[in-house]
Amino acid sequence: MSHKKDSAALQALDRSHHLHPFTDLQNHAEQGGRIVNRAEHIYIYDTDGQRMLDGMSGLWCCNLGYSQPQIAEAVYRQLQELPYYNNFFKCANQPAVELARALVEVTPAQFNHVFFTNSGSEANDTNIRLVHRYFDLLGKPEKKLFISRKNAYHGSTIASSSLGGMDGMHKQTRGLDYVHHINQPHWFANGGELSPDEYGLQVAGELEAKIQQLGEDKVAAFIAEPVQGAGGVIIPPDSYWPEIQRICDAYDILLIADEVICGFGRTGKWFGSETYGIKPQLMTFAKAVTNGYMPLGGVMVGDQVAKVLLAGGGEFTHGLTYSGHPASCAAALATLDILRSTNIIEHAAEHIAPYFQGRLREFEQHPLVAQVRGQGMFAALELVADKSSRKRLAPDSAGAIYCRDRANKNGLMVRQTGDAMIMAPPLICNREEIDILIEKLAIALDETAVHYQ
Ligand code: PLP
Repeated sequence: MSHKKDSAALQALDRSHHLHPFTDLQNHAEQGGRIVNRAEHIYIYDTDGQRMLDGMSGLWCCNLGYSQPQIAEAVYRQLQELPYYNNFFKCANQPAVELARALVEVTPAQFNHVFFTNSGSEANDTNIRLVHRYFDLLGKPEKKLFISRKNAYHGSTIASSSLGGMDGMHKQTRGLDYVHHINQPHWFANGGELSPDEYGLQVAGELEAKIQQLGEDKVAAFIAEPVQGAGGVIIPPDSYWPEIQRICDAYDILLIADEVICGFGRTGKWFGSETYGIKPQLMTFAKAVTNGYMPLGGVMVGDQVAKVLLAGGGEFTHGLTYSGHPASCAAALATLDILRSTNIIEHAAEHIAPYFQGRLREFEQHPLVAQVRGQGMFAALELVADKSSRKRLAPDSAGAIYCRDRANKNGLMVRQTGDAMIMAPPLICNREEIDILIEKLAIALDETAVHYQ
């Protein structure tokens, strides 16, 4: 391990040499940022000595917080036993094989196979490779088009960012021409006078219209998160998912659930697909599968697709050097073991999430909060200057950015997306810790109100 330097020296190194993801590079080079060098339970500590309650579970991944020695020990043991061997060309390693089985046990019944990657982005790239191969083997090579949603986040590689619908990303790199986008089910932003259920049906209907426009024989798959996370914790109206499922079934379109955020307990059940009663043929996972301790992602492949791939013959020309890395798989096995033996997902859903969501609803009385939305252990507060007209707090989301910065300053790590404050605390939080989160958020909201009103 490198010798610990003081904060100023680390900041200088960071500013001089380190290009950060999703960061204004000029601003960072000039002003620097935060260096986190320790974490415990649900708290992170930076090199300036600030302690912060992590209301984002890292980047939506440390659902069990930061003090899980069982995971660290499993990785260490594995690195001593077999630090690496690849899974190409019919080789395998024990943790990869055991993890494949464990994932089959915890995911919905249609999933009996898995393809491993290192990240959610690569897993979504893999979805494209799998879907194209599937329809080629079925003798339908013209079925190549994907439909996704505006403002979706499916990763940052060229293919996964094409599947995503983030304008800022598409502006910087042109997406793949076989991906098309429809609107997201964001009732607060776009529902107008419609009830949430009327709006849910209307916006789901855009999928049917898009399939008809592009041609049923050309559209291969629809990809979506059960709840759009990075886009702003967009909770779909109740009418939305049943209608999407009906349309996918009616037109023989594969449904891909991107469970990179929703998976492993975030929405209250093991997978968001279960919370919303949908039956995808492919399911992307990453992040919380290892509790963030090691990089790992993958695709759960449903029986309908697996049957064709397994009977197809000929090589599937896809793979990553670290697909099924033994140490990452050991971390995931230990994580699943904790999730199963402690029933933490069920405990959080029953005892913590209702309390968290209930306390957040108190902010509906706050002058800046026009909507509180959430499901399980994640939520968003939509900030406005005026509730009746929904006038924005400030241009360019400056109000929400200010609120986030105040929260950070007060020792609460939360995020801002557009005009919304976003949070996804670890599932292991207790009620007292939820109270602390709410208290700190209330202070940040009050400070924002003073600043902007
Ligand atoms: N899909 C979703 C829904 C995500 O939220 C993310 C990351 O935030 C990804 C895919 C990409 O995962 P990764 O950052 O591991 O490549």
